[in-house]
Amino acid sequence: MDIMTKKIYKQNIIKINDKISFGKGDLIVIGGPCSIESKSHILTVSKELKKVGVNIIRGGSYKLRTSPDSFQGYGKEAIRWLVDAGKEVDLPVVTEIVDVRQVDDFEDVDIIQIGARNMQNFYLLREVGKLQKPVILKRGFASTYKELLYASEYIRKEGNEKIILCERGIRTFENYTRNTLDIAAVPALHELSEYPVIIDASHGTGRESLVEPVSLAGVAAGADGLLIEVHNEPNQALSDGVQAISTQKMKSIVEKSKKIRDIIINERY
Ligand code: PEP
Ligand code: MN
Repeated sequence: MDIMTKKIYKQNIIKINDKISFGKGDLIVIGGPCSIESKSHILTVSKELKKVGVNIIRGGSYKLRTSPDSFQGYGKEAIRWLVDAGKEVDLPVVTEIVDVRQVDDFEDVDIIQIGARNMQNFYLLREVGKLQKPVILKRGFASTYKELLYASEYIRKEGNEKIILCERGIRTFENYTRNTLDIAAVPALHELSEYPVIIDASHGTGRESLVEPVSLAGVAAGADGLLIEVHNEPNQALSDGVQAISTQKMKSIVEKSKKIRDIIINERY
């Protein structure tokens, strides 16, 4: 069947652990810093996020930065700090793989992220497809839905169907925002695939003030989850501080988005 043929609405269930699954109707909120800055930093943020109802902790370990002079992440060491923090607060964790040679470093990570810049790194997609771990696949910032769906096929064809699609904004002529978050991607990808769809309003807007309204709009459009950058001290962040929200604001987003989800979900399930 053509990849762009409308499918009858049906969603894969992706179990992350005994308490958290995508595809069962729950809104899954993923939060954490752009970069994992130290062992104590990720633990502090994780503890705060647990208190406000976040379901999964994120944090960048290997970073893909536009400038080689920007902070590149603490790599393997940061993954260890993240995994330990996740265990301590009893929440699953997600971090981004950027190269096929890093696969072994991700053994204890619950979900692997493929970032926008690697959406068409087909050899990396195939390697991740062999792992049987859930994958968050982000849309490239100049990619169509069709290209995103073909990218997901590289993972699926290796036998891994635990794929979560993420709309994180695309490049347009607008430059007030860092990217233009394409809300229509949420219902469109639901029509075209069986995968849960989440949105990332942090990279999608690049502005702290816009993260909450755009996240809520994504949930109203049917998003199954949110991915949001949160920092305990946003103005001290080593990367993406201008789009990082406080844990207090995250609390408000979690509460409001779950209410909106309840309205949406009653119509679908
Ligand atoms: C990220 O989530 O840390 C990230 C780098 O996002 P993106 O690939 O969407 O730019
Ligand atoms: Mn970031």
